[in-house]
Amino acid sequence: MKIFKGILASPGIAIGKAYVLNRFRLSVMERQIAREEIKGETERFMAAVESTRGKMIQSIGIGVKNLTNNLRDILHPHLQLLNDPTLIDQTKAAIERELINAEWALKTTYEKLAQRFEKIRDPHFKERVRDIETVVDKLMHELMGREEEDLGSLAEPVVVFAHDLTPFDTAQMSSKYVLGFVTETGGKTSHTGIIASSLWIPAVVGIPKITKAVESGDPVIVDALTGMVLVNPSDQQFQIYNRKRQLFFYHDRELEKESKLPAVTLDGKAVKLMMNIESSQDIHVVAEHGAEGIGLYRTEFLFVRDNRLPDEDEQFEDYRKVAENISPHAAIIRTLDLGGDKVPSDFKEEPEENPALGLRAIRYCLRNPAIFRAQLRAILRASAYGPLKVMFPMVSSIEEIRKAQSLLGGAMRELEKEKVNFNRDIEVGMMIETPSAALMAEQFAQYVDFFSIGTNDLIQYLLAIDRGNQKVAHLYQPLNPAVIRLLHMVIKAANQNNVAVSICGKMSADPFYAYLLLGMGDVEALSMEAHSIPKVKKFIRGISLYDARKHVQKILQLQHVRDIKKYLIANISPLLTEGMFSELTVED
Ligand code: PEP
Ligand code: MG
Repeated sequence: MKIFKGILASPGIAIGKAYVLNRFRLSVMERQIAREEIKGETERFMAAVESTRGKMIQSIGIGVKNLTNNLRDILHPHLQLLNDPTLIDQTKAAIERELINAEWALKTTYEKLAQRFEKIRDPHFKERVRDIETVVDKLMHELMGREEEDLGSLAEPVVVFAHDLTPFDTAQMSSKYVLGFVTETGGKTSHTGIIASSLWIPAVVGIPKITKAVESGDPVIVDALTGMVLVNPSDQQFQIYNRKRQLFFYHDRELEKESKLPAVTLDGKAVKLMMNIESSQDIHVVAEHGAEGIGLYRTEFLFVRDNRLPDEDEQFEDYRKVAENISPHAAIIRTLDLGGDKVPSDFKEEPEENPALGLRAIRYCLRNPAIFRAQLRAILRASAYGPLKVMFPMVSSIEEIRKAQSLLGGAMRELEKEKVNFNRDIEVGMMIETPSAALMAEQFAQYVDFFSIGTNDLIQYLLAIDRGNQKVAHLYQPLNPAVIRLLHMVIKAANQNNVAVSICGKMSADPFYAYLLLGMGDVEALSMEAHSIPKVKKFIRGISLYDARKHVQKILQLQHVRDIKKYLIANISPLLTEGMFSELTVED
């Protein structure tokens, strides 16, 4: 038996057979060909190129299909590669020169290219080799007449092991067949984990080289409550974890039974518990888990999932579905937060040196006003059908919020002219997730109706810790005194300036952190993935806000993470009831 420790990304326990996702594992054989076979072999290769091109265009969808061939290929780096002389012409040349089959020629050409990329120092240019690998893999499958591995086509329940899963991969997963997953890369709040939580799939990330230590078919246990992964466990381990899993389900069911009760503290403060969604399909489970509306709809997944930009009408239909089904509560539609680790796998901008600090979210939208305008119009049109609010992500300056609002105003004027209905008084909010926005909260309060604090990014940017990088995951600390001070400052600024403030980052889903946040001031709502709502609701019903505020004052005096942790464990642990857990009590 082998045991590994990783980072918790989505809670639960999975027991089953491993499935190692290796995107480049077709075994290719060398075959010598005769001179007169060159023409046929080259034609076979070019036919594979053409059919790969056709399949790619199909998977990108109509948005790209309608463009001229030239523009389409420029927009789409994988399609571009299918015209790339280094890959295509050199493979053809290798067939002719070395008298080898197309598969072997492609493999050796790729290997030479990859070696050249190895020597490149610039990490992001180096990353381009991943695009080449993806295309070569697709071509190879086409040449060998094999279906490509993808998580959408699994036929039996397995635990997936992979080097990396993109949010696109995760979005394709079905919880029927993916019992859990383990990846070599990733951090606590990476988007792959966020999607896993919303699909209720247990996930542990950040275990380097795990795909080399496990083979497809190996029995495995993923304990995504402690971050342990057991490969080839003993019978005794199976029994222990089976019981642990049953207990986890039992507690979940018990918590669910009380999920409809309101979250009111012992001293009478009602806190709204809202749900984060990544797809409008989840609208039907909002009420089921006791959520009072949607605190965050991450609309970029509409784009990530389909690898294309849906047009205004498609977006309108999607948001309308949310609007029509959310009453009596409200739904906050966040405008596109593409960039960072949320890049549609087949629709890339130029690779950036530091994507998390790059053309992401509102910056991307302000640079692409046509895309932004379509989304704003779609949200406004949908606002005629139910209580929607709109929210801008990653704002870092007053200029940005003013520009975004002016574009929103422009979209309103257009719709008025076109005599299209929308809610003229739609509430407009912004995420507080950059340190600059947090420091200027008082000023931003004059421009918006509400704040939603995105702790996932705020921590990443404040502490300069990449939220998806397992190497620095131990430094990603919500209890860093700087984080606590800044959060306290924002909540106070919002309260003093009469702007509603909520939290929609992962911190709100952990009872210990929720306690801290509620003790910092008047927090209107906590928004999180469905699974945590009943747990946090029940926890809130057992606490006193008066006490929480007193504890926060003491915690604000502490300088070390370990002291804050100790303080919380000593004072808050007694408030946890059976089945409730916090990452603080699990990790130590
Ligand atoms: C956040 O940053 O806390 C947040 C909720 O947004 P996302 O996780 O989508 O970046
Ligand atoms: Mg964010």
